[in-house]
Amino acid sequence: MVVEGVSDAEAVLLRRIRAAIGASVLVSASMDLHGNVSRALAHAADLLTCYRTAPHVDVRATRERTCRNLVACLRRGQRPLKAWVPVPILLPGEQTSTRDEPARSIYAAVVAVEEADGVLDAAVWVGYAWADEPRNRAAVVVTGWERGAVARGAESLARLFWNARAEFMFVAPTGSFAECLDAALRADASRRPFFISDSGDNPTAGGSGDVTWGLTRLLEREEFRAPTGPTVIYASVPGPEAVEIAVRAGIGATVTVTAGAEEGDIHAGVEVVLQVGSVFAILTKLRKPYHLERDFTQLDLRPREADVVIVKIGYLEPELYAMAKDWMLGLTPGGVDQDLERLGHQRIRRPMWPFDRVFGTDPDLNARFIPMSDEPLTGVDE
Ligand SMILES: [Zn+2]
Repeated sequence: MVVEGVSDAEAVLLRRIRAAIGASVLVSASMDLHGNVSRALAHAADLLTCYRTAPHVDVRATRERTCRNLVACLRRGQRPLKAWVPVPILLPGEQTSTRDEPARSIYAAVVAVEEADGVLDAAVWVGYAWADEPRNRAAVVVTGWERGAVARGAESLARLFWNARAEFMFVAPTGSFAECLDAALRADASRRPFFISDSGDNPTAGGSGDVTWGLTRLLEREEFRAPTGPTVIYASVPGPEAVEIAVRAGIGATVTVTAGAEEGDIHAGVEVVLQVGSVFAILTKLRKPYHLERDFTQLDLRPREADVVIVKIGYLEPELYAMAKDWMLGLTPGGVDQDLERLGHQRIRRPMWPFDRVFGTDPDLNARFIPMSDEPLTGVDE
């Protein structure tokens, strides 16, 4: 998370929790691999781990491991050693999906590191690319009992990640929104439904979800003006007032409404579908991600039969991925713009791949042992 006026909000939160529970209590935390681990956060926790898949299909397994790790330490009556290695790479999730190389191999290696004697847990964070703090970068944390094994594991994972830096590619062919629509229109029946990620406004990546840019461009296209045109489903834009008006008007009614560019929240509340020509645009009372087939079918939309399905998402979540006969990642504007270099980060550490392609010296990928949480944090912040 990012809190205005506070750097490293998670570390501040954890320190306050510590102030309440005391230094002697063991703390085990699970995280999204798109989070960031500062030195201060690694210090305040005894155990830190994160997902090993993106899309995240191991949420429950990660939580369970987090609890098992804690129980293992309690049984042993010992705080684990913590090795932390920051890796000067900052990439979007859409280039680091574990469906694809090189992330697939890096995350496969996490399991191998964890299996070594003397190691309790191993974790690799890709980091979060749309915030601008010194902690925004990739990181490795390995915990365990044997200093040598823990250090070797952490360093091998950091080295794997660093060595692969030039190999990270987008999860799907990319294009401007217009290029994606052109490609979808050219695609024959075997490639439909053709999915397009309106990726710049992905609410699950931190986008507001209420950017109207994509829908506006879509409704400008001549090809979709007539109801007989190619069927397009667009998910979605929040517009609480528009939804209220549409609900009052009833199914099949004609309404004129404005939507988007307002505040939103995580659950849609009420959803309505507006048909504009051959475009079926979903409006929601509150913002909502569309990850499941039933998100559409419960609105009487049939995405499998549509020609084009546009979702505010980055990489497609499993059900949509399985359904898509073809897919492009639209490089659209928004809070989570995939073109990181045009965002103008100011506070991230430099040099940082891919913002900097030339590093004077190789980064220090040696394991840093972080003091136990009941000991003071000494040493330099880096
Ligand atoms: Zn994530």
